Amino acid sequence: MLEELRKKIEANGGFVNAHSHLDRANTARFFSKEEQYKFLEEKWKLVDRIKNNSNYWDYYTRIDQAVSEQLEKGVTTICTFVDVDPVTSSKAYIAAREIGEKRKFDVTLLTAMQTLKGVLDPNCQTLMRNAAAGVNILGSLPGADKGREDEHIDWVMNAAKKYKKRVHVHVDQLNTPKEKETEWLARKTIEHGLEGKVTAVHSISLACHPVAYRKEVYKICQDAGLSFITCPGAWIDHPRREDLAPIHNAITPVDELLAHDLVVAIGSDNIYDVYKPFADGDMMFELRLLLEACKIYDVDELVKIATTNGKKVLGIR
Ligand SMILES: [Zn+2]
Repeated sequence: MLEELRKKIEANGGFVNAHSHLDRANTARFFSKEEQYKFLEEKWKLVDRIKNNSNYWDYYTRIDQAVSEQLEKGVTTICTFVDVDPVTSSKAYIAAREIGEKRKFDVTLLTAMQTLKGVLDPNCQTLMRNAAAGVNILGSLPGADKGREDEHIDWVMNAAKKYKKRVHVHVDQLNTPKEKETEWLARKTIEHGLEGKVTAVHSISLACHPVAYRKEVYKICQDAGLSFITCPGAWIDHPRREDLAPIHNAITPVDELLAHDLVVAIGSDNIYDVYKPFADGDMMFELRLLLEACKIYDVDELVKIATTNGKKVLGIR
């Protein structure tokens, strides 16, 4: 079965890694063990150290090396988020864009902006406007504009309409019933008339809610044409907590999404960085983790997740 899966993915043009952060790949060694154990939101700030010490050529070398490593693992299309904020400025996405151009015969490399410092801070605005015009996909992390998430997504979606680009949004990352961001994103997509143009990255907390709520959300997602990128390894390390929720794996409920005809692609997310010091970006590992956690044994469905669905969410035909 596994060999058949491998061969079919190859025959279909190789893996599409639909979500990664190559601008900080291979940087785990710059952080102590204690820092590597910190919680996600603390790490959003910790990575400033790498960003402060990285010039344009550091970004260029790092992304170029990560692309080479992905190619060795059978990945032929990659979307990398790249930090855009007052610390990194535009260095990372310009480097990624130039590498994409240089290596266009080996790999399709698309960029999306990672908005770790939000999009609303006046210090970010000029940068964000330039980035929105310069990247392939408008990336978003609503949690970075805490308390102003609506304004954040309105800004991103308005920019998407202006530049005619797709939107990828990190939502429901924290595996808690307190989050209802997938529903919120689907409703915002409809409000902005961006049906079919928006992709939710992660949507893990969706699985923390009762089945009746999940089914309701899947219907809204269908109306919104919302697609998904699952990064199976990304939150599998979720710490045990005492709050109660329906029993589930800390992973996007992909089996249910597929049963509701929603498009699902797959990404590696972080590679050898402070978030995931042991993650090597092996897409076969990610796919196996997904198929085990969500019990998906349909080879053709898995091939679609690993290849054509990735191209769909990236807007590549
Ligand atoms: Zn991400």
